[in-house]
Amino acid sequence: MITRLITFSILIFTSFTSFSQNTTIIHAGKLLAIPGEPYLNNKSIIIQNGKITGVKDGFVTVEDIKDKATDSVIFIDLKDKFVMPGFIDLHTHITHERDPGANPHEWTTLNDEDFAFNSIKYLNRTLMAGFTTVRNLGSDYNLINATKRAIAKGDIPGPRIIAATGAVSATGGHGDFHGYRTEVMNAVEKRVGICDGPDDCKRAVRALVKQGADIIKITATGGVLSNTNAGVGQQLSDAELKAIVETAHSLGRKVAAHAHEVDGINAALRAGVNSIEHGSYLNDESVRLFKEHDAYLVPTLLAGVSVSEELKTNKNIPPAIAEKISQVAPVVEASFKRALKGGVKIAFGTDSGVSKHGTNAREFELMVKYGMSENEAIKSATVTASEVLGMPETLGTIELNKFADMVAVDGNPLSDISILNAIQFVMKEGVVYKQ
Ligand SMILES: [Zn+2]
Repeated sequence: MITRLITFSILIFTSFTSFSQNTTIIHAGKLLAIPGEPYLNNKSIIIQNGKITGVKDGFVTVEDIKDKATDSVIFIDLKDKFVMPGFIDLHTHITHERDPGANPHEWTTLNDEDFAFNSIKYLNRTLMAGFTTVRNLGSDYNLINATKRAIAKGDIPGPRIIAATGAVSATGGHGDFHGYRTEVMNAVEKRVGICDGPDDCKRAVRALVKQGADIIKITATGGVLSNTNAGVGQQLSDAELKAIVETAHSLGRKVAAHAHEVDGINAALRAGVNSIEHGSYLNDESVRLFKEHDAYLVPTLLAGVSVSEELKTNKNIPPAIAEKISQVAPVVEASFKRALKGGVKIAFGTDSGVSKHGTNAREFELMVKYGMSENEAIKSATVTASEVLGMPETLGTIELNKFADMVAVDGNPLSDISILNAIQFVMKEGVVYKQ
């Protein structure tokens, strides 16, 4: 793989020792090593075995890295680029994508293998858009587990995946199955995450962990895209939420709570969830609870914008869903602004799959449009997102011992955030995927 990739760069072979190791050196004209802080000029990033082993001033040469045991050195020239850590999207559905033109009953005709092959293009688009890590919040467990393994082995290109499998949801709740006559719904195997009552919800969490979930996704409130007219208010009870969070945390899993209306947002925060996804109707009490419980908001602004755009042209959206889109989409902006003003920790997530995979960077534009600074928006998809994953030691900045996940663009995204829609360079764990 490496030998094919070196064609774009200046290559110098040298030999300091008999120890077989490759070193890559990136010459970065502008480097935002730690998003949230100012960028630096003329830096060199040294990479070995997929990890960053040094960040040095100026454009270093082979002579300058004599202390590193290496057989060969590959130079990558990004002197005219703006380099940042690879982006993290905390809310994706990478194995699926809404397609208004497709047969809405396609799921009844396609096999799991079809979904697996479809996923390859979504994974590729996401990685090429600069997203080197995603947290996937809902996919078939066999499909997402196999996809995660294939990427980790390097069999298919894609972002690193931290995955929920299914979601914990009440019977008839947002994460249940809707919109068909009862015989059809009954013919489909009941999802293990569907639960009623604290004990049953403990079982649901345990069953999801048994399936391989890295993170527990719950639907604390109703949702926009489930075909039921049950609204977007609280659906899991306070007692159920408490049981879910305790069980998940005891098994070493964080909890990401889908929540729209304020009753569900605040109940989930009081129960101790680690992040609120969407958070469409949050109020001042929510802001206080986010801080009290050290929780994060993942606003998924792009989801609201995407479904609103789709509603204008797609006449096949069921009435129950159309009504909820019209209800929720307009309030999202005010909620985001309240959280931002109140100092809530905001982390980047798009709900991609609702929007097109590979257009994830549109979320940056929306965050900035609604009042976040460009640097803070980039921080939300790097430093802050790595904290949400519990992986700040390995992801989120360009510093010693972190994974060599990097992206680069022409121009300065701190003055024009839309530049992030045109990623020029992508590296994940030291391997170049786009140049
Ligand atoms: Zn989602």
